[in-house]
Amino acid sequence: PSPLGPTPKLVIDLERLAQLPKEKAGALARYAATIQSQRGDYNGKVLSIRQEDLRSLAVIYDKSPAELTEELINWGVLDPEARRAVESF
Ligand code: C2E
Ligand code: C2E
Ligand code: C2E
Repeated sequence: PSPLGPTPKLVIDLERLAQLPKEKAGALARYAATIQSQRGDYNGKVLSIRQEDLRSLAVIYDKSPAELTEELINWGVLDPEARRAVESF
């Protein structure tokens, strides 16, 4: 096991996401809204997503999972801890 502890979860900051321009974040916002709808989870400030969902989002954004993770950290949507979640990819 890693000395830093278990693999961190990918936790999307929904309030930050809502502040971003649609040109950048529209696809991610639609994806997150779909997950919320499937779960019936509408009241959260954050949304934990699957590792597999980051892979799908990377395809949508035409980036590697690591590149997309950096972008989402820059936007303030993911915590820098999320870097460790994609190291295992
Ligand atoms: P499903 O994938 O067949 O999952 C059925 C139920 O198993 C989920 O119901 C949830 O209670 C549980 N479950 C499955 N995987 C996990 C997991 O990694 N963590 C947790 N905490 N529970 C898990 P739920 O939440 O009502 O979701 C219903 C359906 O909505 C899911 O059926 C899936 O098709 C979709 N869905 C929900 N959240 C996600 C997501 O984050 N990503 C994707 N790709 N689909 C999701
Ligand atoms: P955690 O995973 O560290 O989540 C901390 C808090 O972040 C949660 O407190 C909740 O307020 C928020 N949060 C994280 N992911 C989501 C999300 O996808 N949707 C929403 N609406 N809120 C989210 P909460 O709910 O009191 O849960 C406390 C702890 O209980 C969680 O810590 C986790 O360890 C556990 N837990 C709660 N629900 C689940 C679950 O579906 N699966 C698993 N495995 N653990 C859960
Ligand atoms: P979590 O609930 O703490 O689950 C951590 C990991 O345990 C998941 O990582 C997945 O690898 C595994 N796991 C948990 N429950 C199930 C399950 O029912 N079926 C399977 N096949 N694996 C399961 P993953 O997929 O990266 O998901 C990360 C987090 O995203 C989950 O943490 C949970 O907070 C959220 N999540 C993912 N899928 C769902 C879902 O369908 N419904 C809900 N409510 N939350 C989900």
